[in-house]
Amino acid sequence: MSDTVLIVEDEQILREVLKDYFLNENFTVLEASDGKRALELFNSEKIDLIILDIMLPELDGWSVCRRIRKTADVPIIMLTARGEEEDTLLGFELGADDYVTKPYSPPILLARAKRLLYSRQHKNDIKQQQIHSLNGISINMASRTVLVDDQTIKLTHTEFEILSYLMQNEGIVMTREQLIIKVWGYEYDGDDRTINTHIRNLRTKLGDKADAIKTIVRQGYKFEGTR
Ligand code: CA
Repeated sequence: MSDTVLIVEDEQILREVLKDYFLNENFTVLEASDGKRALELFNSEKIDLIILDIMLPELDGWSVCRRIRKTADVPIIMLTARGEEEDTLLGFELGADDYVTKPYSPPILLARAKRLLYSRQHKNDIKQQQIHSLNGISINMASRTVLVDDQTIKLTHTEFEILSYLMQNEGIVMTREQLIIKVWGYEYDGDDRTINTHIRNLRTKLGDKADAIKTIVRQGYKFEGTR
């Protein structure tokens, strides 16, 4: 069964180039040239991955990302302008899983898309039935659900990866580089702040359990469990 990618890009030439690359890899491709259409398609079709440009007519990429994240954790790769570090950070704050700077190389974008899908599907396939419970936080690796004091909380794909990795390595300091490689599978040339942003969002969602994630200055993060 092929994966369905939604390409949201208002420049027709860029959209068609990407479409060809994804079709060549046997994806089913849906296209939107504005943000409103993107949401319509998202609400009516089963979509496995979204490539989302920022500057779009009708509704920009930020708004599209924010609205999708209210209900779904589908992987989102944002297309940001080169040198716009703040764009990248805002994207992560809104729950994007990855970003590619324009002008990008389509094969690299495709590789990142496939890696994101693979990491998600591979984890589903392993069906690790383990449930890790620490400090009132329970994560179920098979269903990718998280309970805090028996209440389900909604995490993005990336937030789930970070939390499960920290909990599986309870008490051990994980550097930002380790987290980045674990979550995205390769090292960013970019900025450490990307991880900080995801951690901040994660802490917000964990509420009064947020203290379990400790910041270790100049080193990284660790999950400190008390049983
Ligand atoms: Ca655009």
